[in-house]
Amino acid sequence: MAKVKTHYEDCDVLVVGGGMAGTGAAFEARHWGRDLKIICVEKANIDRSGAVAQGLYAINCYMGMQWDENQPEDHVRYARNDLMGLVREDLGYDMARHVDSAVHMFEEWGLPMMKDEKTGRYLREGKWQIMIHGESYKPIVAEAAKKSADKIYNRIMITHLLMDESKENRVGGAVGFNMRTGDYYVFRAKTVIVAAGGASHIFKPRAVGEGMGRTWYAPWSNGSAYALPIAVGAKMTQMENRIVLCRFKDGYGPVGAYFLHLKTYTQNANGENYEKKWYEHTKKLVGEYIDHHPVPTCLRNHAFIQEVAAGGGPIHMVTKEAFQDPHLETVGWENFLGMTVGQAVVWASQNIDPKYTNPELTTSEPYVMGSHATCSGAWVSGPEDLSPPEYFWGYNRMLTVDGLFGAGDTVGGSAHKFSSGSFTEGRLAAKAAVKYIQDQKADGINVTDKQCDDFRETIYKPLENYTIGQNEITGGTVSPSYILPIQGLQRLQKIMDEYVGGITSNYMTNENMLKRGLELLEWLQEDLENVGAEDYHQLMRAWELKHRALTSQCVTEHTLYREETRWPGYYYRGDHLKLDDENWHCLTVSRRDPKTGKFILEKVPVYHIVDEKEEKQVS
Ligand SMILES: Cc1cc2nc3c(=O)[nH]c(=O)nc-3n(C[C@H](O)[C@H](O)[C@H](O)COP(=O)(O)OP(=O)(O)OC[C@H]3O[C@@H](n4cnc5c(N)ncnc54)[C@H](O)[C@@H]3O)c2cc1C
Repeated sequence: MAKVKTHYEDCDVLVVGGGMAGTGAAFEARHWGRDLKIICVEKANIDRSGAVAQGLYAINCYMGMQWDENQPEDHVRYARNDLMGLVREDLGYDMARHVDSAVHMFEEWGLPMMKDEKTGRYLREGKWQIMIHGESYKPIVAEAAKKSADKIYNRIMITHLLMDESKENRVGGAVGFNMRTGDYYVFRAKTVIVAAGGASHIFKPRAVGEGMGRTWYAPWSNGSAYALPIAVGAKMTQMENRIVLCRFKDGYGPVGAYFLHLKTYTQNANGENYEKKWYEHTKKLVGEYIDHHPVPTCLRNHAFIQEVAAGGGPIHMVTKEAFQDPHLETVGWENFLGMTVGQAVVWASQNIDPKYTNPELTTSEPYVMGSHATCSGAWVSGPEDLSPPEYFWGYNRMLTVDGLFGAGDTVGGSAHKFSSGSFTEGRLAAKAAVKYIQDQKADGINVTDKQCDDFRETIYKPLENYTIGQNEITGGTVSPSYILPIQGLQRLQKIMDEYVGGITSNYMTNENMLKRGLELLEWLQEDLENVGAEDYHQLMRAWELKHRALTSQCVTEHTLYREETRWPGYYYRGDHLKLDDENWHCLTVSRRDPKTGKFILEKVPVYHIVDEKEEKQVS
């Protein structure tokens, strides 16, 4: 066994991941739990970690209740419409009713908000989005977490959750290792809040080879948020609901500010509005959903994908008109400089000035996440005052494992939270976690040394595989005794891409392909026992890969289970090409048995707790 130093830390609230949700959780845990010991563990450094690392140009979820711009029920209708009817409305409403207060704190903490000069209100980019000078968004929220937590551990990757050995199905903490020193860390905790972001790089990305890190979602989001709970038998929901994004080609620069603020629009290579062309075709697949306003994100993608397949590409964003206005031109560039600087670099390298050339758009490879226009993630309890009995088991945002909470991308069923909503959900989860402790639900937790020692052996095994196997290298990096993390990652991406609806098959899959994909994933899992890591950084890569592989299995099982195409434009079940409200207007929930590794899936009713009233438009 590897000779590494072991550190033990006992605490009350353990936050795994210091991104938007994690910082919100650390902050709120201190508010309610003045005397509690609060620890946050982050794989990177919380000052610049997570999907908001580089900064943002807009806060995408703000109601504006103080000015009666929107109410929480409006947001529920919006998210429900965008997700083709299937969201947890209790979770969405709960987030929406609290999100404004989080945004107001961001401003108090120094985040520069753009204001409408005439009204003094936050400057709207769209109905839900407000504009910010957000280059320092992440360091600002990180500071709040640093001031609140007893300790922030940076550079520690959590690999496994610990379980209580005195009471079944209760969490007992988490373990991981420091990527710089290699030290082993055991965090015994009364409650754990998983806030470890979404999953990129489980499907083969469009940019491969030297461009591989260029994905839309953060390349370091590796699905720990899903793998950690799945491994201990927590239930997951809507994991089939992966997201595909329409973005500027090659740099993945977001299009929101362009559509909403600059009022740019898309056209095909012949200068036509191609979306209209696919109206009848789409209506045959999804019925009246295509007539909803705004048109659901997946259906807009669908028109894009069909148009390109029919030979109408490339698709362009018409920027030449808007960029004639010097103010809009500035906004267009600043939008990337403060958020996705790579897009500006790509344009410069390809000689594209959007004032004179309409840039190309693309549809991305699929990602798995719970906070954007998608809602994959853990199946959690909702709030007591809103949730129907089937959605409520005691503590808000608690998973189906006692004492284990989730927030942000971790939590399924609640789409369109974005940065502010994820932070808010972290706050909600932390408040409930503190109450769980105060209600003495966490008393008597027993985590034995044996459990911790066993995990230590498991975690460092890739180093041992490498040390022993490196003498057998037959050429370059090829060893008969191990596979390297990058080799395993590429194999995973190929399976997901070809069988589970990635870009190679134009997002198409079916029962036969999914079953074959599951078989290949199982064999991959067997081979991952032999992954080899030459140093601590590669050890992190090995564990990221293992988390991605487990997440992928869950995604594939869910995709097989839902026998319809609910979100054309995100993926297609070729054997069930139509939306089927009669049989599938429901949520899918899975549980993997930790002992056998087998998944069991079920349908759970989707409850509409907000009525259908027309949405009010804000100018
Ligand atoms: C390109 C892009 C543009 C976006 N644009 C906007 C926008 O304009 N407006 C907006 O409001 N939102 C935007 N979002 C969405 C927003 O960033 C997310 O909704 C939000 O960050 C999700 O919060 P989270 O805490 O769940 O995940 P994250 O903020 O990603 O945090 C997850 C954290 O967990 C850490 N972690 C992961 N695994 C482990 C592990 N095993 N152990 C320890 N730590 C771990 C990560 O390092 C990270 O710090 C954008 C996202 C992206 C990627």
